[in-house]
Amino acid sequence: MRIPLIAGNWKMNPPTLDEAIGLARAARDAAVEVPGVITVICPPTIWLPDVAGAVGSAGIAIGAQTMHHEESGAFTGETSPLMLAGLASFVILGHSERRQYDGETDEGVGRKVASAVVHGLRPIAAVGERADERRAGRTATVVDRQLRTALAGLDRLAGTGLVVAYEPVWAIGTGDAASADDAQRVASQIRSILREIDAAAADDIPIQYGGSVTAENAAELFAQPDIDGALVGGASLKPVAFAAILRAAGTG
Ligand code: PEP
Repeated sequence: MRIPLIAGNWKMNPPTLDEAIGLARAARDAAVEVPGVITVICPPTIWLPDVAGAVGSAGIAIGAQTMHHEESGAFTGETSPLMLAGLASFVILGHSERRQYDGETDEGVGRKVASAVVHGLRPIAAVGERADERRAGRTATVVDRQLRTALAGLDRLAGTGLVVAYEPVWAIGTGDAASADDAQRVASQIRSILREIDAAAADDIPIQYGGSVTAENAAELFAQPDIDGALVGGASLKPVAFAAILRAAGTG
């Protein structure tokens, strides 16, 4: 039995620390109402200490939105896994916005996933095809390549705390979510790849869907056999919508 896992990716929002703390407390209050769901909030890095301090660890977990794979060094603007210790228990890696705007490569994501595991952080490894790749019928090929490369540095999956997020790029922030059938098809493909890599662990690894998840479409997505929750962007900034998504995961 996999426990549903909902992660809110706040991206570069909200604009003030006060708002961030308000959002975090609202998410925490909603999360304690749905105990059968793992709820994670991923604020901007600069606010991790304040947000972690404001919500504590009861009922909610904290995630970072990215990290560098090295522990320290000449990497201006970066955050190391050692710096996240005690502040975050999850870290999103390979988000399409990082791939698009910050030049993250499949291999780089692989280094980060391996480093996160070594440092006791649960990686949320994001994969997904762009619109042009989808139109060209390359979804399965792209997801296969991204996932295998993301996991290439792990010698096993058991005990890594791995989470995989299937996030079709064309669905992120567009209001155009994948259909539940399409999301399930790719989630099932991801599960098959995980089985090839580590048959004993594959059925325990949560697979999230991400891309315009709302209070309205969440339940149908979570009813799919290989979808174990969501990586939520825009709706994670709206306390009422985020709480409704958590409830959908709790009853799914
Ligand atoms: C995301 O940024 O990971 C995401 C899924 O965003 P949204 O929910 O806004 O589409």
